[in-house]
Order: sequence, then C-alpha cells, then structure tokens
Amino acid sequence: MKYKVYVDQMKCIGCAQCYAVCPNKVFMIINKKSIPQYMDNCVGCRACIVRCPTAAITIMPRDLEAPYAKFYAT
Ligand code: SF4
Ligand code: SF4
Repeated sequence: MKYKVYVDQMKCIGCAQCYAVCPNKVFMIINKKSIPQYMDNCVGCRACIVRCPTAAITIMPRDLEAPYAKFYAT
C-alpha cells in the first residue's frame, strides 16, 4: 500500500530523527526542516511518527486520501 507523508513545517524543529529512523530514506533535511522527498518509498511502519518529538508527521494510505479529502471539504 502506498502512503502519503506530511510534515507540518511549523512543528518541525529539524532534529533529523525521522531521517535517521526511516528504513526507506523517505525524508531529506533541507534548511533545517524535514521534507518527505521520497514518500513513494514509505511502507507505513510509523517509526518516524513514534520518534518525532514534536508530532509533526502524519501518514495516510493513499486509497483513503480521496474520501477524506471529500469529507474535509464539506
Ligand atoms: S523528527 Fe519531527 S521535528 Fe525532527 S526533523 Fe523529523 S519531522 Fe522535524
Ligand atoms: S512510516 Fe516508516 S517508511 Fe514511512 S516515512 Fe515513516 S519511518 Fe519512513
């Protein structure tokens, strides 16, 4: 299953813990912020979410994305 990975740039403190823990190197640290540059590699293990000290990361299965987007739009 493919996942979409979001990093709240306001919450991210650039500690690179997500970069260190991700087994598939989804993240890059650019200008002291985490960017999910390679989110197609995400396998949904949630290790980054557990490790992030500021709860900046959200992942969502792509097949849920469209229904949720519709829900939030109404
Ligand atoms: S672990 Fe969280 S706070 Fe640290 S760089 Fe990654 S997203 Fe930012
Ligand atoms: S859920 Fe796992 S594979 Fe996906 S970005 Fe986080 S650590 Fe990487």
